[in-house]
Amino acid sequence: MKNLRVEIDNHSGFCFGVVYAIEMAEEILEEQGYLYCLGDIVHNDEEVNRLTRKGLKIIDHSELFSLKNEKVLIRAHGEPPSTYELAINNNLTLIDASCPVVLKLQNRIKNSFDKDETIYIYGKHGHAEVIGLLGQTSNKAVVFQDISELDLPSLPKNITLYSQTTKSTDKFYEINEILRQNGITVNTNDTICRQVSNRDKELRDFADKFDKIIFVSGTKSSNGKVLYNVCKEKNPNTHFVSNPDQIESSWFDQNDSVGICGATSTPMWLMEQVRERILTF
Ligand code: SF4
Repeated sequence: MKNLRVEIDNHSGFCFGVVYAIEMAEEILEEQGYLYCLGDIVHNDEEVNRLTRKGLKIIDHSELFSLKNEKVLIRAHGEPPSTYELAINNNLTLIDASCPVVLKLQNRIKNSFDKDETIYIYGKHGHAEVIGLLGQTSNKAVVFQDISELDLPSLPKNITLYSQTTKSTDKFYEINEILRQNGITVNTNDTICRQVSNRDKELRDFADKFDKIIFVSGTKSSNGKVLYNVCKEKNPNTHFVSNPDQIESSWFDQNDSVGICGATSTPMWLMEQVRERILTF
């Protein structure tokens, strides 16, 4: 045995937006035995599988199109107005678990759009939250996930900048600075969720305290990628895993201290399983 000391970061685990969506889903699953959910309820396959076993049916937008007279859960990422219109047409009851932080951002973007501002959104192309944000502007806002996608000399001289809630704060302010240096007046709206940006700071401290870090997250999670990089930067002995089977004994030396942490979409039960596995080495 390697005599490892293992600790789980008590700030890691679901953010309140995800807790709220999962509680809502579980309540209806108890009553009804099944529930449709538009897209993965959370970007974590292990948690999705747990809920699927309880009767959650994940559907995509094309399946929603042909669904009628059912309850459908809207997950924390939110949806564009077109989804709500479709629900009315198909007599669907939407169980809206859109995160309040995302709803507030949708409203802010809608207000900017109504005031004819030129809107740029720093976010991942095709991400569900970004599609919902873009929908507030009748798909007119410009989405970019890297500053290199923008042709700076031809950009309008006044823009309103927003961010997807789970992007990196450092990158957002770097982008903001580059835009200003190129003579663009930016109405900057730091709309990164504090559940992500605060965790960023806490994780730096956490990652520094251990010989090895195991970062647990689904591969589809945006903030999982951001927060993994935060840990890796602080502690190069950081490993990314999505489930306990991916952990290798060779990563650990005798008497190592090991920190386990994760994204806002990583369930605590999964980090506990990871700890159990490490303790077998
Ligand atoms: S990360 Fe923030 S915005 Fe996203 S679901 Fe969680 S609480 Fe809501």
